[in-house]
Amino acid sequence: MSLRIVVCVKYVPDATGDRHFAEDLTTDRESVDGLLSELDEYAVEQALQIADSDEVDDAEITVLTVGPEDAKDALRKALSMGADKAVHVEDDDLHGTDALGTSYVLAKAIEKTGYDLVVCGMASTDGTMGVLPAMLAERLGVPQVTLLSEVSVADGKVTGRRDGDAATEQLEAQLPAVVSVTDQSGEARYPSFKGIMAAKKKPVESLDLDDLDIEAEEVGLEGAWTKVEDVAERPPRTAGTVVKDEGDGGKQLAGFLAERKFV
Ligand SMILES: Cc1cc2nc3c(=O)[nH]c(=O)nc-3n(C[C@H](O)[C@H](O)[C@H](O)COP(=O)(O)OP(=O)(O)OC[C@H]3O[C@@H](n4cnc5c(N)ncnc54)[C@H](O)[C@@H]3O)c2cc1C
Repeated sequence: MSLRIVVCVKYVPDATGDRHFAEDLTTDRESVDGLLSELDEYAVEQALQIADSDEVDDAEITVLTVGPEDAKDALRKALSMGADKAVHVEDDDLHGTDALGTSYVLAKAIEKTGYDLVVCGMASTDGTMGVLPAMLAERLGVPQVTLLSEVSVADGKVTGRRDGDAATEQLEAQLPAVVSVTDQSGEARYPSFKGIMAAKKKPVESLDLDDLDIEAEEVGLEGAWTKVEDVAERPPRTAGTVVKDEGDGGKQLAGFLAERKFV
């Protein structure tokens, strides 16, 4: 079977760097380095494995991102892992877009690109909401199978395993569909030198809001349904209570826990 796979990947501030909010209370993405969200590397990896599987003989993997100019780095990383082509939705009017707005833009870009399967990560590493896959499935009018630790495609269906606290579920849906995969779905491959060189020649299509027939007031801070009212720096971590064990360390610890009703 032939399969058009679209993988949604997010460009996020490097978590090892100092993350700040800008004056307009959006995340400061200018003065910090960014990278491909680590949880989306698992989404790219699973798309590559589906494409390499025996059931699929002709697959094309498109990686898609909505983000600022530097978000191209996230696409390049995914292309160097083995994806075939990329789509970058970039527009100044997207600044401050909330989850609803991002799902709207992504759905339009996915419909324009054409798809049989959309693969997402379980959550981004900055907004961490974990809502985009469900919002996308709703906007595209297709089923969603989320938080999979194992996924495969055969006979026009996607099937997968979801490991919950209480149970393990085997799930399936007819294509076209949206899936999300967890960080338990298997190690993401490192780009080879050959892959990095090949990625430089792979096509990256740039789209703006006009290309997707989206009005500026539908997205960005203006179109956002959620608004950050205020931001306060988290108080610096305190040293905490140091227990000097002079034979009564256990007693002191039990007292400490009881005082705080932990026990
Ligand atoms: C600290 C912080 C707090 C925020 N709080 C809110 C809030 O409370 N409400 C709100 O509506 N918005 C909020 N946002 C904005 C929101 O993060 C963005 O709209 C984002 O694009 C979608 O949410 P998410 O990052 O949580 O995605 P998630 O729902 O966690 O992402 C799941 C998956 O969707 C895909 N994906 C997500 N974003 C993109 C993208 N830009 N391009 C391509 N694929 C993508 C990836 O596959 C990702 O693994 C916040 C952003 C930040 C940085």
